[in-house]
Amino acid sequence: SKPLLKIDNMSIVFSSPDEADIEAVRQVDLSLTPGKTLALVGESGCGKSVTARAVLRLLDKNADVRTGSIVFTPAGEDATDIARLKPDSLAMRRIRGNQISMIFQEPMSSLSPVHTIGDQIDEMMTIHEGLGGKAARERTVALLDQVGVPGARERADAYPFQLSGGLRQRAMIAMALACTPQLLIADEPTTALDVTTQAQILDLLRQLQADFGMAMLFITHDLGVVAEIADEVAVMYLGDVVEQGSVFDVFSAPRHPYTQALMNSIPKMSRKADRVRLNPIKGTVPAPKDRPTGCAFTSRCPHAFEPCASVRPVRTDVGNGHHARCHLLTQAPVEAMA
Ligand code: SF4
Ligand code: MG
Repeated sequence: SKPLLKIDNMSIVFSSPDEADIEAVRQVDLSLTPGKTLALVGESGCGKSVTARAVLRLLDKNADVRTGSIVFTPAGEDATDIARLKPDSLAMRRIRGNQISMIFQEPMSSLSPVHTIGDQIDEMMTIHEGLGGKAARERTVALLDQVGVPGARERADAYPFQLSGGLRQRAMIAMALACTPQLLIADEPTTALDVTTQAQILDLLRQLQADFGMAMLFITHDLGVVAEIADEVAVMYLGDVVEQGSVFDVFSAPRHPYTQALMNSIPKMSRKADRVRLNPIKGTVPAPKDRPTGCAFTSRCPHAFEPCASVRPVRTDVGNGHHARCHLLTQAPVEAMA
């Protein structure tokens, strides 16, 4: 079916008065099918959060979508290129409030500390469903119940600080779902939680996705989370999407040396049980300003050869919609053979 979200050739540039512009995200292509989950995975600073925030046009003032398109096609509506909308335009606010919601690692970034969670969700019900008073509260209670808040009717009168971390996370999810979005963007929503709560929230999101039929763009640094929640995965490194495809294809046959290194860094026996942080690869990620013109992974790649530093590898289809950017897929390493 037609993609719900299709990002083509998107570059995001950060400018500052005293330094050269920095391309934080470089010519990224991504596609998300309605009702499916795409995970963006990579180490911190690789551009995954920036990519997600660009979809909502919630970038910092010094950042800008410099090239490309972000085409959003909600069910039964015409396509809109989000990249062409002004961040504070009516059209953008309508998409942000109605069709695309976002949840974060820290629930207090979307919950107000001075209002009860019930009042906050009631207000969403009023804005989006035109419900007032008792009718709004009934829907709020039903939604809190659906996201697994026990004693939802009483808990609706609690302030966020009166709830545990896990319940606050559930309240934030309820807020995000109050507008019945077609796309939920989740930026590391389980990273700050203990392992048990993390597993419960992932289960909940999977269940809600089935109930609401929404698509998810799920940002994480954790391959275990990707395996549990995603249909598709895009691996980012230093602003590049280096590989993307179905979770099955990418996990069973990673084609980019960076993805291969990530996979190898996870002890096989505990691939699902543990939450292993990604940072196992030799060397460190260079600063964005030091990224080579060619492949971003050159300085850490065990297979780097002549064209890697200077020539950017093309996005190569290795079958079944699985793509990677690596010269090994298009040419043999001459030095290695000599
Ligand atoms: Fe390694 Fe070169 Fe492939 Fe980049 S293009 S991942 S440096 S072999
Ligand atoms: Mg981030």
